[in-house]
Amino acid sequence: MGKRAPPPWSADDAARAWVHHLAPDGGSVAFVVRRQGVWAARSVADLVDGVWHAHPDVAHTLLRGRVVTNRPASEVDRAVVQVCGRKLGAGVRGAPGAVPPLEVRWMDEAAAASRVLHVAASEVAVPAGDLRAWLRPAPDDAPLRHRDRPIRAVLLGADGAVLAAAANTNGRHRMRHAELNLLQRWAKPLPDGATVLVGLQCCRMCAAMLVDAAEGALAVRFVDPEPGPFGRHTALQPKGWEQAL
Ligand SMILES: [Zn+2]
Repeated sequence: MGKRAPPPWSADDAARAWVHHLAPDGGSVAFVVRRQGVWAARSVADLVDGVWHAHPDVAHTLLRGRVVTNRPASEVDRAVVQVCGRKLGAGVRGAPGAVPPLEVRWMDEAAAASRVLHVAASEVAVPAGDLRAWLRPAPDDAPLRHRDRPIRAVLLGADGAVLAAAANTNGRHRMRHAELNLLQRWAKPLPDGATVLVGLQCCRMCAAMLVDAAEGALAVRFVDPEPGPFGRHTALQPKGWEQAL
């Protein structure tokens, strides 16, 4: 047995006091409180992105704490925390209260830097012809971990033209799947009738982000099924937008 958990009312009072402390004007905030300090940003996605960018060696441990936000949870918020964190407490209203003297580190600039870095690092040129093998190349070294394997994603317009392409860069940043990099490289809504081709079936996080970015209908075609639990119950599946290639 581990340490006894504090009673829930105590954690919720602390969360309300931190919301009040970090966003006294009622602006949006997301944060995680740990023994070592408080990490905060203006959105759940920026918090997780910034923590992985700024602290790649300990991000996994930091994000085991409950991510708290004063905004209602979006599908993207929920999925980001499921894939890259642990628990989400959303819609927490601020209330005055004492907070412990912990250092607060704002992660918005780290999230912006992460975006610039990974948009550049994920650049790939799309070859002509059948893309199947290119989307999911076989690893050249046997002991490569699954998440370090190259996975590529391509956005095609309704006419089949290549609009954008990206590789995953998540060797040291858990959030940086090919689809997120693709969305940030494109940096616009996905046009009606677009298709996303991807080497590995979308996880819940990427599926939620693709649905969120789609202006109309979207088709997603994957090469290999995602064997883990995050490939199931994604936002794409109830829409019927996802199929094997
Ligand atoms: Zn993903």
